[in-house]
Amino acid sequence: MALTITNLSKQYNAQKTALFDYSITINKGVLGLLGPNGAGKSTLMKIIATISKPSAGTLLLDGEDILKNPDVIRKVLGYLPQDFGVYPNLNAYEFLEYIAAMKGIGGRGLRKRIEQLLEGVNLIAEAKRPIGTYSGGMKQRIGIAQALLNDPKVLIFDEPTVGLDPEERMRFRQLIADLAHDSIIILSSHIVSDIDTIADEVAIMQGGRLISHGKQQDIINQADNRIFEVLLENNALADFKSRYKVIDTARQADRIRVRYISTANDIAFSSVPVAATLEDAYLFLTQNNH
Ligand code: ADP
Repeated sequence: MALTITNLSKQYNAQKTALFDYSITINKGVLGLLGPNGAGKSTLMKIIATISKPSAGTLLLDGEDILKNPDVIRKVLGYLPQDFGVYPNLNAYEFLEYIAAMKGIGGRGLRKRIEQLLEGVNLIAEAKRPIGTYSGGMKQRIGIAQALLNDPKVLIFDEPTVGLDPEERMRFRQLIADLAHDSIIILSSHIVSDIDTIADEVAIMQGGRLISHGKQQDIINQADNRIFEVLLENNALADFKSRYKVIDTARQADRIRVRYISTANDIAFSSVPVAATLEDAYLFLTQNNH
């Protein structure tokens, strides 16, 4: 299964183009779509979900044109939008039954499927309460459950971990890992730690463009020999920040350990090279495109 996106662009109006000539091929497994706010992640996801139309470009699912024939993707799609709305008076069972009806899912297995999903997102105990009384994290979890109702082959989650606590994030990762074997799963985030443990591949977006796409290790390798640490006196930090892109600082005795990005021929005195992480690579790749 493959989703092939070619030369996609989206112009909202004369002032705003959200995607520029965007091309990517997405295969089975988990793709982490990473980029700062405004990068165009939601726009791309809405177009894939056939909720929004591109200004130009093509999208093929296993060779079939989903712009001409949206049902090709709609019948295999699970989608969690960013501003997921719920019906406050329905309880979790009623809500999922309603969504199932909208998607044309029914039959004898439905009640069991709903139970399994509520179990998977840890909402069984609250399933009879009106959704309007749920916390933000619980609403997000019912949103995840509705996206999974039809056993989707293409799953699109826009910022799915917003509002989830660490334990809920772990459950979410487990759910995704179980699904990743035979589906295309696209998760967006502006926070590296939300996706680095679950994504097989990462696509970094900025300003409506695809900056980098590949296996996590290939992305990390792009920051090889670019990440350094140095120990500074407290009063030297401000000046250092004006010359280098600082990633992180930590107190060490009476000095400051600074992790920073540098080009190989512009390294601060007494720095040591350190192995890059996905976070480092993300900052390195996005800073190069300002
Ligand atoms: P992200 O999901 O990465 O935060 P979005 O796709 O939401 O990015 O937005 C990309 C850009 O398009 C932003 O500059 C945003 O303000 C703009 N944008 C999004 N939706 C609309 C819209 N309906 N009309 C005009 N501009 C929009």
